[in-house]
Amino acid sequence: MTSRKLLFTPGPLTTSAAVKGAMLHDAGSRDRDFLGTVRKIRERLLTIGGAAAPNNGGAYECVLVQGSGTFAIESVISSAIPREGKLLVLVNGAYGRRITQMARIHAIETETLETAENRKISPKAVEERLAASHGITHAAVVHCETTTGIVNPIEEIGAVAKGAGAVYIVDAMSSFGAIPVDLAATRVDFLISSANKCIEGVPGFAFVLARRDRLLEAKCRARTLSLDLYAQWAGFESDGQFRFTPPTHALLAFYQALLELEMEGGVSGRAARYRANHTALMGGMAGMGFEAYLAPEDQSYIITTFRYPSHPRFRFEDFCARLSELGFIIYPGKLTAEPCFRVGTIGQLSPPDVEALLKKMRRVLEEMGVASVTA
Ligand SMILES: *Cc1c(COP(=O)(O)O)cnc(C)c1O
Repeated sequence: MTSRKLLFTPGPLTTSAAVKGAMLHDAGSRDRDFLGTVRKIRERLLTIGGAAAPNNGGAYECVLVQGSGTFAIESVISSAIPREGKLLVLVNGAYGRRITQMARIHAIETETLETAENRKISPKAVEERLAASHGITHAAVVHCETTTGIVNPIEEIGAVAKGAGAVYIVDAMSSFGAIPVDLAATRVDFLISSANKCIEGVPGFAFVLARRDRLLEAKCRARTLSLDLYAQWAGFESDGQFRFTPPTHALLAFYQALLELEMEGGVSGRAARYRANHTALMGGMAGMGFEAYLAPEDQSYIITTFRYPSHPRFRFEDFCARLSELGFIIYPGKLTAEPCFRVGTIGQLSPPDVEALLKKMRRVLEEMGVASVTA
């Protein structure tokens, strides 16, 4: 067994003992108890998005999808857009580019609107592109672009998409559960997130919160069998079951994670802890001389990108490996142009854990002979 390490990453994340403990059961995938858990998970996820339950007049449905977050995005992209449709992808990082890539694989006509990785997507620019282009039926954007940690203005972009009559798809993978999202106010048609990000479950499945009318339109549009979003939903509606083997243990863990989210005070309670983590991180990193990539006003409390310091003895691979030996996992960067690394402040972590990481960083830098990263 490997030793316990704290994950300062964009996911999978550190989880609580009770979340891990919830997996010490073998649930039958068609058993009544298990199906009850699946039903409660679907209802609670809608509540987090501010939507009423479907049987209570709500306009949204929750569809669980096996696999990592990318599978659920691909489920939406490959199921929601008709053969004659056209997708506009708003890109300011690697996750936006990934959506473009999957649309191309499915031979979906696609346009991209690229923004620099250190800039938020401008609703005005989106409005202009939608007005200038012909035939765009769908628009997709990433909420927190985990490449940098920047948060795009999804409500304003949603209003613009709505104005142009485009179906609106939001990848809220690394934000849902930690940054408040009101589905209706955001005018989102399909929002995607996963089990192992801010809800603090373990990997194994992802979920889509979809407007029912849009979901119904997706009937018979799917380009794959296993990622057919409509069929997956219809399966849940008919017998409460996943169409194919569900990640039973991950679902049990997730239900526990949802209870813990509620006990923490919901999204606002969780946001407060993550914000405190982030504040502790920024203070400590600045103290060591590390420079954040984003301007402070664009920086989220989810994950932070730091530039490699110019000190000749700083080697990221070495820095990262030594921290790992001490029980702390940080993450490489994902920027196209600049060498950088990332530190996440999400998951079952609190400010004392961040302080512990900072202390080890100072020790490792000293061992590497990097007295000050700015030297
Ligand atoms: C984590 C993440 C994904 C999905 O990644 P998987 O590795 O497939 O779980 C997609 N978009 C964003 C913004 C993410 O942070």
